Amino acid sequence: MSFMEKNYKRLENEYCYSGHDLGSTWTKEKTAFKVWAPLADSVSLRLYKSGDTDDREVLETLFMKEEDKGVYCLTVEDDLHGIYYTYLVERDGETAEVCDPYAKSVGVNGDRAMVIDLSSTDPEGWESDMNPHIAEGITDAVIYEGHIRDLTAAPNSGIYEKGKFLGLAETGTHTPSGDASGIEHMKELGITHLHILPMYDFSSLDEKEEEPGYNWGYDPKNYNVPEGTYSTDPYDGAARISELKQMIKVLHDNKISVVMDVVYNHVADAAEFSFNKIVPGYFVRTDKKGNLSNGSGCGNDVASERFMVRKFIEDSVYYWATEYHIDGFRFDLAGLIDVDTINGIINRVKSVRPDVIFYGEGWSLHTAAGRRVSLATQKNSSKMPEFAFFNDTMRDTLRGGLFDKTKGYVSGSLKGQRKLAKCFTGLYKWSKSPDRTVNYVSCHDNNTLHDRLRMACPDVYETEIARMNKFAAAFVFLSQGIPFIQAGEELMRTKVNTNGSFNENSYKAGDGVNAINYSAASDEIVRDVYEYYKGLIAFRKAHRVLRLSDRYDVKKTISRIRSGVGEGLMGFKLRPRDEEEILVYFNACMNQRLIVLPYGDWDVYVDADRASAEPLKPAKGFATIQPLSAMVFIRHKRTGDL
Ligand code: CA
Repeated sequence: MSFMEKNYKRLENEYCYSGHDLGSTWTKEKTAFKVWAPLADSVSLRLYKSGDTDDREVLETLFMKEEDKGVYCLTVEDDLHGIYYTYLVERDGETAEVCDPYAKSVGVNGDRAMVIDLSSTDPEGWESDMNPHIAEGITDAVIYEGHIRDLTAAPNSGIYEKGKFLGLAETGTHTPSGDASGIEHMKELGITHLHILPMYDFSSLDEKEEEPGYNWGYDPKNYNVPEGTYSTDPYDGAARISELKQMIKVLHDNKISVVMDVVYNHVADAAEFSFNKIVPGYFVRTDKKGNLSNGSGCGNDVASERFMVRKFIEDSVYYWATEYHIDGFRFDLAGLIDVDTINGIINRVKSVRPDVIFYGEGWSLHTAAGRRVSLATQKNSSKMPEFAFFNDTMRDTLRGGLFDKTKGYVSGSLKGQRKLAKCFTGLYKWSKSPDRTVNYVSCHDNNTLHDRLRMACPDVYETEIARMNKFAAAFVFLSQGIPFIQAGEELMRTKVNTNGSFNENSYKAGDGVNAINYSAASDEIVRDVYEYYKGLIAFRKAHRVLRLSDRYDVKKTISRIRSGVGEGLMGFKLRPRDEEEILVYFNACMNQRLIVLPYGDWDVYVDADRASAEPLKPAKGFATIQPLSAMVFIRHKRTGDL
C-alpha cells in the first residue's frame, strides 16, 4: 500500500479546506500566506530578495502556524510586493524547500514564488476590458488555434517581439510582401476566438537561456503563472503578468476573445511538482501496486477526484477567468479528469462569467481513477451539458485515418458518408446538441491538413490539394457545432523537416518547422484557399441558422435531401423561420454531379471556387456540383411582386 493510500481516507475525511485564500495575499500593509500541508510536522516561510535559485541570500525564515484543516498560516506585517518566497516543509525529520503551488508569480524557471500587488500589473483600461463576444453563444465562435511562437516568430512576420506575449500585442503588422501577420491576419480572416497553446509556466525550456528554444508546453510546472520564455524578462515576476495582460487587452480591443489551453490532467514531473512535495503523492493517481497511473502518456495522471486537487483546479481556472479575463478554456485530455470536477469548474466560473466557453479532448484512456469515478469523456458528454468535445469522427472521416495515409471523404474516399451526415447536424452519437461538438479537420497534433492530404495523394497537382482543403473547410464551417481550425490551415500550412519529410509531432521542432509563414498568402494557390476560408467564415456569421445550439431546433430546421443524391453526394435543406431556405450539397465524387433545384430563383453562395456572404451567381432549374466540393444555394427573397 502506498503512502498516499494509507493517508488518503483520513485526508478526505478530516482535512478538506474550502477557503479561497490559499497562496499569498498582498496588501500594502501586510501579506497573508496560507499553505495546505496536513501531513507536515512543521512548515516555515523563507523570504528572498531574488527569484533566482542561484542567489542564495535569505532575507528571513519564519515559522508558520498550523490552523484549521492542515492549513499553515502566517501574516507578515510589511509591504512584500516583489519579494520571493518558498516553503520549508518538514516531515519525518526531512525538509523539502518548495515553491507555492498557488504562486501567482515566480522568479526565473519557477522555483520561487513571488508576492505581488496584482493591480500593479494591470494595463491601462483593464477595469473596463471584457470579452468582445460576451453576448454570443459557443456555436457563434470561430476558433483559431495557435502557439505564441508560431504566430509571431517567422523572420518575415514583421513582428518585433518575436516569440513573446508582446508580439501578439502588436497591431498593423505585415510581411515584406504586404501580407497581414499576427493580429492583423486574424482580423482579416474573421475569427472570433484565438485559442493559445499552453502559456502557463511549463518546465521544458530554460528561461535563463538567451535563445530558450521551442516547446508546445504540455508540461505544467506552475499552473497559475504565465510562462517565462514568453516574457521579455523572466527574472522579473511582474513582467510576465503585465505583458500577458497587455496581449489579452489588445486582442480584446481587436474583437478577438482568448481561449487558454490548460493541462490539468498531468504535471511535468510528479515527484518534483510542488503540491506533491508538500503532500506526498496526493496530486497524482497510483495503481494498486503504488505505481503512477499513466493514461496521459506523460508519466502521471492528476487525481482530480480528490477534494483538494479538484479545488486547486477550480481555483486555478477561476483565477485565469477573473484576473486575466480569459474567455475560454480548452482542456487537454479532459477524459482523464472526472465529470464532477469539470462541472464544478464550469459552475464556479459561469457564476461570475456566463460568457466563458469550455471544451476539450474527450478520448477514453486508461487511468487509475477507480470504477466509481465518472470521467469527462465523449461518451459521458450528456453529463456535462456546458462542455464541448472535439469531434474526431468528423476529422478522421473527412481527411482520412489518424495513424495511416489513407484517403478521406474530401480526398476521394466515399466511406463514412452516413457518419458525416450526422456530424453535419451537430448530433453525432455522443453530441446531444450542436453546442457540444467542436468541429475540425486539423489541430496542432499530427500532420497539418495540407500535409495529410498530400500524403494521401502524393501524385496530384497542388491545385487539387487546395480543392480538397477547401472542401474540408466548407464541411467544417457549414456544419452545426463549433468550428475550429489550426492556425495556418487557411494558408495551406505545412510542417517540413530539414530532410523534406512532413513533421507529425512538432512539439519541440523549433520555429523553422512551426512558425507560420504569412507570406504564403502571396502565392496564387494559397491566396485562393485563404479567400475561401474568409468567405466561409463571413457566410457562417451572416446566417444564424448555421449556428443553432438546440437539438430540437436542428430537428425542426434541417432535413436531408433524399432525391437525386446517393453515394458520394449529400444534400441538406435548411428551413429557418426567419431566413430564406438554404440548400447545402457535398460532392465527394471525382466527377461532377447534376442536381435539380426546387422551383424558384436561387443564388449560389459557395461553390468549388469561391465562398462569400454575398451571392456569387444566380441559379435556376439545374445546377452542376464540381468534383470534391461543396455548394450552397439560397432561395431568392420573395418580394411583393409575387
Ligand atoms: Ca517555465
